[in-house]
Amino acid sequence: MSSRNQQLFDAAQRHIPGGVNSPVRAFRSVGGAPRFFTRGEGPRVWDAEGKSYLDYVGSWGPLILGHTHAPTVKAVQEAAALGLSFGAPTEAEIEIADLLCDILPSLDMVRLVSSGTEATMSAIRLARGHTGRDLLVKFEGCYHGHSDSLLVKAGSGLLTFGNPSSGGVPADVAKHTLVLEYNNAEQLAEAFAKQGSEIAAVIVEPVAGNMNLIAPKPEFMQAMRELCSKHGAVLIFDEVMTGFRVGPQCAQGLFGITPDLTTLGKVIGGGMPVAAFGGKREIMEKIAPLGPVYQAGTLSGNPVAVAAGLVTLKATRAPGFYDSLAARTKQLTDGLTAAAKKHGVTFCAQSVGGMFGLYFSATPPTSFAEVMQCDKEAFNRFFHAMLEAGHYLAPSAFEAGFVSAAHTEADIAATIAAAEAIFAKGV
Ligand SMILES: *Cc1c(COP(=O)(O)O)cnc(C)c1O
Repeated sequence: MSSRNQQLFDAAQRHIPGGVNSPVRAFRSVGGAPRFFTRGEGPRVWDAEGKSYLDYVGSWGPLILGHTHAPTVKAVQEAAALGLSFGAPTEAEIEIADLLCDILPSLDMVRLVSSGTEATMSAIRLARGHTGRDLLVKFEGCYHGHSDSLLVKAGSGLLTFGNPSSGGVPADVAKHTLVLEYNNAEQLAEAFAKQGSEIAAVIVEPVAGNMNLIAPKPEFMQAMRELCSKHGAVLIFDEVMTGFRVGPQCAQGLFGITPDLTTLGKVIGGGMPVAAFGGKREIMEKIAPLGPVYQAGTLSGNPVAVAAGLVTLKATRAPGFYDSLAARTKQLTDGLTAAAKKHGVTFCAQSVGGMFGLYFSATPPTSFAEVMQCDKEAFNRFFHAMLEAGHYLAPSAFEAGFVSAAHTEADIAATIAAAEAIFAKGV
């Protein structure tokens, strides 16, 4: 008889395309049936068969406090009892906007939306409206949500117009996106030299986390800031993943670079649908109702979702929160690296704050092309062996992982021990 997870997956595929409501959940990259979860608590999740796992996905980043964090759940229940949605302003929206602008010096104003995709899509429209230019620069392997302008891959040879990377995206739209190599400052300078007066914005994941984890080179970050300033382009840091994940002031605080616009999501909703875009006042004042760039949302700033976000954000303000999160995450990556080395497995790992990357390669990749060189088959075998042992990693070799404040030193040690047993047998 097939497993309960498999039965559910079969049933899901009758009326849901691929059985999932977001593609990576389908386990296509690693094979097998996805686990259907029934509940979570702290660092753990339980599947439909009652098996528990230490969770290193954390809903793809939002759950920085772990599952069912009691004060967050309580705030959600209290807000829900007062009204699920009004489509009118609430005081909690002022509180979260003030908090975000207090924490991040780059934010003069902020607009709440419900998903990271909305935040980046709106930030790009705003940048185009502000500059009166059309051209957008993005980097290969960075993901910024699924809007048309962003589902674009490098054309034949970089520094050419992009091609749609998804069906349904008109070539006419994709041609306004230039796709360059991550961490390649020279290529960016070349693009600005050629087309600087046409570039509305450069959008970047300041630590790339959607092609596994790629750390930025300091000279790349510096070049982005200088070139955008020089040519009047808007620098957009897409911190939907890195925001309040890599440090108390996000990646911009960690690297000391001030973007013109920032997009946030994931952690700022604490597991509920809250995202945001914000930045310089002169740019943000171009958004409706103050300015001509239109953007709106029925559920934007939803009171129940904002309640979860506020409790989560405030919890991350506790002294030493990010130091201990980063130490715990490094404990994991150091431990895994040492275990692999001991057994002669070609593997390495690195972390930035509470996010990490695992690579079946000798050194951490620095670009999309290098990520593609990692041993994907070895990752898939490792993934399934870890899953069997009760450790839930992201079901793809091309995703970053996440540790929460609820993971204890003993949890991390248990995960390292499980990995070592797998490395010892040969992965
Ligand atoms: C997750 C993510 C998005 C998209 O956010 P959704 O809430 O899934 O729409 C955008 N940018 C980055 C960097 C992300 O990690």
